Amino acid sequence: MSLSLKATTPETIEFDENILKIEWKDGVVSEFPLLELRKRCPCVVCKGGHGGKIGATTGGIKEAKLLSFSKVGRYAINLVWGDYHNTGIYSFDSLRLYWQGEPGDLGIP
Ligand SMILES: [Zn+2]
Repeated sequence: MSLSLKATTPETIEFDENILKIEWKDGVVSEFPLLELRKRCPCVVCKGGHGGKIGATTGGIKEAKLLSFSKVGRYAINLVWGDYHNTGIYSFDSLRLYWQGEPGDLGIP
């Protein structure tokens, strides 16, 4: 599936204790449960090494708190978790696809 630039560009990004909320420039609002995002962290460590699988080491995580985030260029977001884990870079393309029901790797393709 190909997405428009508007569909993969955030207008606003906010979070609370439970969700990360992204309003996209095409007007769609996505709400991602934090625990789900934490478990699906696309970084190499959480995948259990290069070539590992999403969720390989994060299955036992019971709660996730988000401390802060920062944008990585125009294409991704870096999340800093309550346990100071901060190596996960989630691409906007994959987050939008995930929201639309295509649960793949949330990292940079
Ligand atoms: Zn990670």
